[in-house]
Amino acid sequence: MAKEKWLNNMENKMEKIVSLCKRRGFIYPGSEIYGGLAGTWDYGPLGNELKFNIKQEWWKTMVREREDVVGVSAAILMNPKVWEASGHLTAGFADELVECKKCKKRFRADHIDKKCSECGEKLTNPKKFNLMMKTFVGAVEDETTKTYLRGEITQGVHVNFKNILNSSRLKIPFGVAQIGKAFRNEINPENFTYRSVEFEQAELQYYVKPDEKEEKKWFEYWKSQRMDWYKNLGIKKENLRFRQHETDERAHYARDAWDIEYNTPFGGWKEMEGIHDRGDWDLSQHAKYSKQDLSYFDEETKERYIPFVIETSGGVDRATLFFLLDAYDEDGDRVILKLHPRLAPYKIAVFPLLANKPDLVNKAREIYLELKKDFAVAWDDRGNIGKRYYSQDEIGTPYCITVDFESLENKTVTIRDRDTTKQERVAIKELKEVLKEKLNS
Ligand code: ATP
Repeated sequence: MAKEKWLNNMENKMEKIVSLCKRRGFIYPGSEIYGGLAGTWDYGPLGNELKFNIKQEWWKTMVREREDVVGVSAAILMNPKVWEASGHLTAGFADELVECKKCKKRFRADHIDKKCSECGEKLTNPKKFNLMMKTFVGAVEDETTKTYLRGEITQGVHVNFKNILNSSRLKIPFGVAQIGKAFRNEINPENFTYRSVEFEQAELQYYVKPDEKEEKKWFEYWKSQRMDWYKNLGIKKENLRFRQHETDERAHYARDAWDIEYNTPFGGWKEMEGIHDRGDWDLSQHAKYSKQDLSYFDEETKERYIPFVIETSGGVDRATLFFLLDAYDEDGDRVILKLHPRLAPYKIAVFPLLANKPDLVNKAREIYLELKKDFAVAWDDRGNIGKRYYSQDEIGTPYCITVDFESLENKTVTIRDRDTTKQERVAIKELKEVLKEKLNS
């Protein structure tokens, strides 16, 4: 394909995803009836299921299947001292912004040339603009009640390091996982949900012995675990890569940092998840600011130390967007979301061949209600069967079951496969087992 046409297709793909998300109920603009609020998005019925499935898969792999990781769920609002200690109130957690001298619009310094893209006027020199969102807790709005919506979910784990140690039998190396909302006053929210002001993160803080060999070993381990997770859930290998941060690009705490990047249609390789070596930054800072002892005592070697932290930090909204983009496919006028069955909002759809034949409808309803006990199942009896298949393909439903006249005679139904469009006949009494096998393979 000529390069230009390919580029066009890629850009179209983003538009198509945005429109599909709205039309089918994956993602809507936040507060839309009031003209929206820049950088906020609402997940509709299908998007909510998809995002929930992504988080569930993450939790299963990162926590449930492991012996060395536990989970927490910390408060979004924290004592503001947390953010002093972590360095989030200083220049480290800020974007360089330039301001238009005339219309005062602000832009990220790394996103714009010399002139204002709105009115063409000259821009100021870059200034630092902190990303933390301020709020007040209490009746008065002053410095004593000021705090912040968390800019990352990380600190909720580190401030509980002692609590977790004292209430569990964990021994280093071990990890603490968390999924939750974070907020950043991004001046230019962009590319649909890619850069939002409110978003969800899924993170692991893995505590290791502060020794270079251990640090490197676990860093490499988590890098490959995280890459495998995306590949195992169906993201195409060629759309994923690692990129190491340059020394001057790293966050203030990082000893080493690698991104897992996705090849997006809106500007090529973009960060999806970061793997960071945070050293002893967090615990040392919190020990200093809280005046508490946050060291770890190794019973076997009788050593006391502040552990190092290897972090994996991914955005759930970015992952949701990239899973959608990667799954999007077209075959003539048929749109197919080739989502991994474990991620698909509905695993199965059930149809009666004709909506005006009570025998077919009753049998199909019976099957639908029975399957709903074990799977996420959709019901559709509108239009013709071809349209219903197309409609399920577009939202990624892997299997469609049709109850037809033969079903009433010999107690079988057809199962149609989203990706091959092939149909097979299966006995109703074996349906659950057959579907379980298909969905788990
Ligand atoms: P970027 O360079 O794109 O601003 P970052 O390097 O600041 O991202 P981290 O602080 O490492 O991001 O956060 C970890 C993850 O959280 C990112 O990999 C991304 O998936 C997600 N994330 C960060 N900022 C946003 C945002 N504004 N909107 C949506 N997701 C975000």
